[in-house]
This record gives sequence, C-alpha cells and structure tokens, in this order.
Amino acid sequence: MDGLNKSIYDLGSDSAFSILARSQELSKQGKNVINLGIGQPDSPTPPNVVEAAIKALKDGHHGYTSSSGIPELRQAVAEDFYYRNNVKIDQDTILITPGGKSIIFYTMLMFGEIGSEIITPDPGFIAYKSMIDYTGAKAVSLPHRMQNKFSFDADELLSLVNNKTKLIILNSPANPTGGVVPDSELEKLARGLQKFPNVFVLSDEIYSRILFDGQKHHSLLKFPEIKNRVIVLDGWSKTFSMTGWRLGYGIFPKDVFDYAEKLAINCHSCVNSASQYAGIEALKGSQASVEEMVKKFEKRRDFLVRELNLIKNVECVKPGGAFYVFPRIKKSNLSSTEISQYLLERKFIATVPGSSFGSNGEGFLRISYASSMNNLEKFIDCLNEFMNE
Ligand code: PMP
Repeated sequence: MDGLNKSIYDLGSDSAFSILARSQELSKQGKNVINLGIGQPDSPTPPNVVEAAIKALKDGHHGYTSSSGIPELRQAVAEDFYYRNNVKIDQDTILITPGGKSIIFYTMLMFGEIGSEIITPDPGFIAYKSMIDYTGAKAVSLPHRMQNKFSFDADELLSLVNNKTKLIILNSPANPTGGVVPDSELEKLARGLQKFPNVFVLSDEIYSRILFDGQKHHSLLKFPEIKNRVIVLDGWSKTFSMTGWRLGYGIFPKDVFDYAEKLAINCHSCVNSASQYAGIEALKGSQASVEEMVKKFEKRRDFLVRELNLIKNVECVKPGGAFYVFPRIKKSNLSSTEISQYLLERKFIATVPGSSFGSNGEGFLRISYASSMNNLEKFIDCLNEFMNE
C-alpha cells in the first residue's frame, strides 16, 4: 500500500500476539490449546490490588491525572526502588505509563534517527528492534549466547560502540531467554562506558522481581558513573500479574525526563487513574503473592529444564529469571518457525519461534511456563512424541 509515511513500513509486530490470535481461533474450533506462547503470569492480580482499584473508582477518581502519574504513585515507586536497590531516585524523574512498552516506544523516538546506531540484545524482546527500525536508526545486534547462559560479554558490547551509537538496550532477566546478566559484567560495562560519555542505556528491568536461586537484582542505576545516562524500565505487568491494567514506569535522567513527559502528553495523556491507585497498593501492600508466584515459577523451571534435557536433540540451559525457557531443538532441517507451527497446528501447543527474537534465536523455541504443571507435562509428552516421529 502506498501513501503512508515511509517509516511505517519498517515497523515490525510481535509474533506472540499473532500466535495468541491463532490459538484463540483453534480454541473456538473446539481444540484444547495449551498456550505457552504469551508472556503473562497465569495467576490473577492479588485481591487487595483489585480492591484498591474498585475503591478508587467508588471514590470518584474518574478524570485525567497528571500525565507523569499521580504523586502518591511516583513516591511509592521511588520508595520501592530504594528499598530494593538501595538507590535514591528523584520522584520527579519517574514517568508512569500505560505498560512498560510505552517507555520503549518513547525512548526509541527520543534516540533513534537515520544515521545513528542502537545496540540491542539478540535474541531480544521483539519491540526493541521493531521500534529501532521504525525510527530509521540501525539496530546493532548484541549476541546473547547459550554457552554464556544468554548473558552478554561486556567487552564484546563495548567493541560495538562507535561514534554513531546513541543507545544500548539491556534486559535482565531477559525475554525470551530468562538469562540474567551477572553484576560483574554490568560493572565492567559501567566502567567501559565512561569512555563514551554520549551513549545512553535503556535498562529494561521488568522481570527484576522474578529471580531464582536466591539471586538479588542489580539495577544499572546503582553505578554512579553512568547514572545520568541510564533509563530504567519497570512496571507492574509481570510482578503483580497486571498485564491488562496497562501500568508501567520509566526512570529518566533529569535532562531527558521533560522530553519523555512531552511524548506522554502528546500520546497517552495519562494512565487511567484506577490502575494508578491499584499500583500504589501493589507496591505498598503485602508482597506474599509475588513471593508465591516466584516459588511456583522456580519449580516449573526446574521441571522443564530437567525434562527438556532428557529429550534427544534438545538442549536447555537453566535460566536465572523471568518465566521462559529457551531450548535449542534440532529436528531434521526444520526451522524454529516450522517447529513452532507444527506444534501449534498438530499438537495444539502454542510456543514462539526463537527466530522472531533475532537471528541468534534461530534453532530455539521460547516456552513461557506461566502455565499449569499439568500443561507443562503435556507439552513435554508432545515434544517427546514430535522428536521421535
Ligand atoms: N519488556 C519486556 C522485556 C517484556 O517482556 C515486556 C512484556 N512482554 C515488556 C517490556 C512490556 O510490558 P508491558 O506489558 O508492561 O507493556
């Protein structure tokens, strides 16, 4: 189709959503589809959080709020961030958005332009590359390899930086691999970036609370030497099972915040106020549901990693966080898309092909284990069957 702005043709999509649509179609036809494709927790939002939203509506919070978010919520985010990371942030640099994704969108609009480069994880969350392409910037792949537990090598990353580099995107724990970047690598990166004072970093920490084996999250904001160049993305979607509430936030360097806020004013005006009140309760109320969810995920991860590695031609490293495993699956000469399609159309199991997350994802499948143990057991049986066919 002609007539649209040229850049719109470069905008990608998220295959997890098209796979979800196809799964729903198959379900309507009466098939019992197991959805291990979409990235959202399988438990409901905690009841105290739902109650807080109901109360907000009953109390009359129906109108626009400040576009950066209500002050009580921004304060709650600052307190929570300090409690978890021991880093003081100014609440005036926090932008509350309809989901974490808006932070990616706004950041790319602020940094991406023709002639510039943005370094992005490969495999990595689909929205990064698609938004970089939209802005006309060049997406430079930072390989996250299985042999490196899907983390990156800071020296390799620094070797990709040049005078066109505007932004580096990091994501730990990661989608689609569950990989966690060790603190030592972050430290090396922070030190190395001192040589490149004009390069900013978007640190997507949306899975920061979903960590296993007693690990502690390390936010990139804890390094004072680069603090004025780091944007942190986090939110409620994953931690509090709130994907449909559309609530996320970004912490911006002071000088960048005003531009991000202007984008918010021009785009979404503000997040719906009931969600914002729910967000306060989520951060300040009982955290028991988060702890329970993480324990449940850890058990499922252990089960899947053990069982996947017992299947011939399947190899799976143990991810340190999020709720995905990213096994390598070798079956004849089939691509990851073909394997994923076969599993959906013949076995009624939705997964996401690794290649949709970047060329380094070819040969892998993303399995979201935000699903019951019963479903995961069925998945293992089906995969076993498929690999032996
Ligand atoms: N970053 C990553 C790495 C994600 O996986 C997701 C959601 N899949 C997001 C950001 C966006 O989250 P939200 O639903 O809050 O927009």
